[in-house]
Amino acid sequence: MGGDKFVFLQIKVETKVKMITRIIPEETITRLRLALQKAQDVVVTCHLSPDGDAIGSSLALCSVLRHLGKTAYVVTPDMLPHSLDFVPMSHTIVDFNKREQLARKHIEQADIIFCLDFNSLKRIDKMGEPVAAARAKKILIDHHLNPDVSVFDLMISYPEMSSTCELVYRVLMQMDLLHKLKRDLKACSCLYVGLLTDTGNFTYNCDNLETFEIANKLRKCGIDYKQLYHLALNTFNESALRLQAYAICHKLVLNREKRGALLTLTRKELEEYHYRRGDTEGLVNKPLTIPGIDWCVFMREDPDQIKVSMRSFGNFDVSQLCARHFGGGGHLNAAGGEFHGTMDEAVAIYNQILETIPQQTNEDK
Ligand code: 5GP
Ligand code: MN
Repeated sequence: MGGDKFVFLQIKVETKVKMITRIIPEETITRLRLALQKAQDVVVTCHLSPDGDAIGSSLALCSVLRHLGKTAYVVTPDMLPHSLDFVPMSHTIVDFNKREQLARKHIEQADIIFCLDFNSLKRIDKMGEPVAAARAKKILIDHHLNPDVSVFDLMISYPEMSSTCELVYRVLMQMDLLHKLKRDLKACSCLYVGLLTDTGNFTYNCDNLETFEIANKLRKCGIDYKQLYHLALNTFNESALRLQAYAICHKLVLNREKRGALLTLTRKELEEYHYRRGDTEGLVNKPLTIPGIDWCVFMREDPDQIKVSMRSFGNFDVSQLCARHFGGGGHLNAAGGEFHGTMDEAVAIYNQILETIPQQTNEDK
């Protein structure tokens, strides 16, 4: 029976006013307050190949900091994909790749550098060097596993959070700054984008009901949540849609005994479909729609490396696999890494991983 597949959760029904728990220690909030009081110039940065959560959290925090009178900039290691151009204020971002001099100036001048949605300087590529050398206090706000404790002066790291956007909301709440956020519909929209994209429209990474409560509070501010959903998760340009259809039609390899799936796209195939950054977003999730497939690996041949993405269900830990085999990491069910070599060699590693996965027995089915 299909019903056997459901896991029924014990949910506490909250009837009173819905309060968001203050999960961040008050001592951390005090330290953050003091650091901000002393600071004028602030840089907010996020990881390479920024996604909706990285961009949304950075822009929202930056905007609130500006309301506090700070000179604040979002400086990213590289360009955001075209698919995120709709995110309010995204045109204000200083891209290190394109405007290195200006980016370096902001980083050198900063009193505080907020590091959002990443856990080690490796994740900001060439920008890691100026950030490490900067005199600024480095403050982490992030939800990835295993943050590099040697880098940050203050860490707000909660891997159990749905998104960095949720964490930024909680930071603002505990700093009594929600009144600034609520008046800023663009910042509210930015946070909502990160919630949407890191939870796949509230379908994963959101076991904590407070995530919905925070989304609700943002909706109550008056954001256009339907349009944000449409633009963030339901909009593809034609070539991206055709590329993804091609990948699924011609390149999907299933290993049903091991519940795994592999998708690969070579440079030639990407070029045939006029690939632009962001066009393969979400592709790695598609094989997981097939009953019996619990984990998926997607390998994309970029000009300088093979980018690896993994997704899974349940306790299948892809972050460990990415760390062990592809120098990466991420979350239990969503992780990434990279491979320097040929596609055939990368696929050989996938096959090695397959060997280590126990065969599915009839009882597991
Ligand atoms: P995606 O597959 O969407 O690129 O990334 C999924 C998750 O894994 C994200 O949370 C992302 O931050 C993390 N991730 C992706 N690529 C890398 C990587 O090269 N290194 C590490 N440490 N994490 C990654
Ligand atoms: Mn995130």
